Amino acid sequence: MHLVFFGAPGVGKGTQAKFVSKHFRIPHISTGEMLRAAAKEGTELGLKAGALMSEGRLVPDDIMLGIIRERIQKPDSNKGFILDGFPRTLFQASQLDDLIEELSMPALVCIEIVVPDQDVINRLINRRICDSCNTDYNLITNPPPEDLICTNCGGRITQRKDDNRETVSRRLEVYQQQTAPLRAYYQEKGNYYKIDGLRGIAQVQNSIFKLLTDHKF
Ligand code: AMP
Repeated sequence: MHLVFFGAPGVGKGTQAKFVSKHFRIPHISTGEMLRAAAKEGTELGLKAGALMSEGRLVPDDIMLGIIRERIQKPDSNKGFILDGFPRTLFQASQLDDLIEELSMPALVCIEIVVPDQDVINRLINRRICDSCNTDYNLITNPPPEDLICTNCGGRITQRKDDNRETVSRRLEVYQQQTAPLRAYYQEKGNYYKIDGLRGIAQVQNSIFKLLTDHKF
């Protein structure tokens, strides 16, 4: 099961990828989470990526491709993986296909989660996140505890630096310009499925699980 979860920021890719990862025992590979961890550690890559991320801009393709090349060759990716936040440009997508072929992995299946822009904006500006285990909270629909201590791991709940209104607009612009064209790319390849993300988390999860079990990817 070699999956690409595709969609604008805030559609629920990360939340759903975590469910799929746990149930089907394949790693959830979120490039955003990897970059945030590097930024937190203060590595050279992390510092460079951190600056771009907080402006809502993309990290250069060559860096991202290096990260993914290394990650999908780890033994836990043998039976598959869920890519979340990668690829984000047509160049990344075509290079990823070359890499998959080079490594003799099965063709990727793309699942797009679709949510209208205005809902995505509301979700992102109200999103809070545990900076240790990445559990998501939402000020309206799933408020964090008052002490801002994560109920899952005891970590600290914060707001991502790029979840403010201004950066969210920039991220959506970048998404429309550079990432949305991937829809046509995957549609043309034939391994493309669309899921309505404007429903409860459990309903979206059911649709995705049904798709995955019906098709036996
Ligand atoms: P995300 O957590 O997926 O919303 O990603 C947060 C930020 O990390 C993005 O706004 C980009 O700055 C950076 N990023 C994550 N994945 C990629 C990628 N595949 N290509 C370029 N930049 C990325």
